[in-house]
Amino acid sequence: MLTNNKLIKELKKNLTPDNVLETIEERYAYAQDASNLRTISNLPDAVVFVQNIEEIQKVLKTANKYKTPVICRGAGTNVVGACSTEHGGIVLNFSKMNKILEINPENMTARVQPGVVVGTLQKEVEKYGLYYPPDPSNLAVSTIGGSIAQASGGARTFKYGSTKDYVIDLLVVMADGEVLRTGSNTIKNATGYNLGSLFIGSEGTLGIVAEAVLKLIPQPEAKKVIMAYFDTIDAAVSAVNAIIEQRIYPTTLDFMDKNAIQTVEKFYPSGLLCDKDAALVIEVDGFSCAIDYQKDIVVSILNKCGASAIQYSDTDEDYDRIWTARRSSMGACAKLKPNVTTDDMIVPRSKLPELVRGTRAICEKYGLDVCMVGHVGDGSIHPQIPIDYRDEDEYNRLKQAKSEMYELTARLGGILSGEHGVGSLKRPYIAQVVNAEALNYMRKIKKTFDPNNILNPYKIF
Ligand SMILES: Cc1cc2nc3c(=O)[nH]c(=O)nc-3n(C[C@H](O)[C@H](O)[C@H](O)COP(=O)(O)OP(=O)(O)OC[C@H]3O[C@@H](n4cnc5c(N)ncnc54)[C@H](O)[C@@H]3O)c2cc1C
Repeated sequence: MLTNNKLIKELKKNLTPDNVLETIEERYAYAQDASNLRTISNLPDAVVFVQNIEEIQKVLKTANKYKTPVICRGAGTNVVGACSTEHGGIVLNFSKMNKILEINPENMTARVQPGVVVGTLQKEVEKYGLYYPPDPSNLAVSTIGGSIAQASGGARTFKYGSTKDYVIDLLVVMADGEVLRTGSNTIKNATGYNLGSLFIGSEGTLGIVAEAVLKLIPQPEAKKVIMAYFDTIDAAVSAVNAIIEQRIYPTTLDFMDKNAIQTVEKFYPSGLLCDKDAALVIEVDGFSCAIDYQKDIVVSILNKCGASAIQYSDTDEDYDRIWTARRSSMGACAKLKPNVTTDDMIVPRSKLPELVRGTRAICEKYGLDVCMVGHVGDGSIHPQIPIDYRDEDEYNRLKQAKSEMYELTARLGGILSGEHGVGSLKRPYIAQVVNAEALNYMRKIKKTFDPNNILNPYKIF
């Protein structure tokens, strides 16, 4: 407690005192993230709203002095416990570092602070006819810093890649306060090690992203979304393969199972067809003159693959309605029980039907409801399980089911996360899919970058 008092005093002395939160209510509000951890093991010692690089450095100086963890926090929407405060420490909040510093239409780049909201950046660059494709479903709130640290993806990853593919330069404050520039303002860079890639997906454990330069691409002129319903999951998944075999390159190849369709429709009525077993959400984009051409080919493949109903967007309202429905699945699922968990297993696409069927069978075996959505074009699924954490038996069944799902994923040659990360929730399972030598190198990198183990300690492994 004495150390804690000194720590707060020092932070308040070195920073704007109003930007340092210390009451129990304030600290409680920042102990958790959207992972919905069952228990909060520790509150942070303080929450600091940083405003610039110098303030980040000051916090690190204090943290090193007191050997206190520093946990970066964007919007706190990661779903793996990546910014939960297991070991107390100082939460760095970036909501006051939320400026778009530059949009450069000639170079097609944007330079931003970490607290910029992904959806805000997308809207701003679109004013210049540019496009920032990474689109985590909660892009209306999640931040660039958080999405870099989690290597976030989204529905458009199938065609455009994920956050990893758009970061060309980072300004990183290291654990000792040193500031590192990892890349350059150029689209290509073959000059030495690709240090930037180490920070992308590192969940705030290796360095603090203070600024990012992101690659932009020309905004597609037009887009259309098609929603196709099937009477079996297998038919839906085989339609995905049929589309790809025809060398059509949709922006998204997303999936909702019957439970997801019905749950969304129950809480957010969107005109979805609730009697169907599965639906695909397929978006095509490009020049206006090519949209209906692509749509017609996709629709003809879907019909051949046994689609029992097909809807598509003719207006912006239709487009938004379909995507809002798909993006609302976790919110809808959360209304079924007091808590909800989501997951993010990914396998080579050829193994997808086995993963979908297997996951459903595991949930049935343990008496758990599951709403399944996913970016099936990438081979990834997000099983969303509503649960009541107060029910000890249900919680134990969930733990067993999760363990079996990860075993199944590993058996199918997959990996535990394609876009959500590891955090603390999946930490016990990482050795199932990452080999011991690789994990050992990861630990050595962590030790080199952060010898005092103050940056989001004990996350990932
Ligand atoms: C409803 C819902 C839907 C979602 N859909 C998707 C989806 O489709 N695709 C997808 O990939 N994810 C998805 N997610 C997960 C979530 O969107 C991503 O993990 C997100 O990008 C996290 O952003 P954030 O700002 O909330 O970060 P936070 O949760 O605040 O932080 C995430 C990690 O980043 C670190 N961090 C934050 N800022 C910095 C910084 N400046 N420097 C270093 N480290 C930092 C934190 O310490 C933490 O480890 C979804 C989550 C929800 C709740």
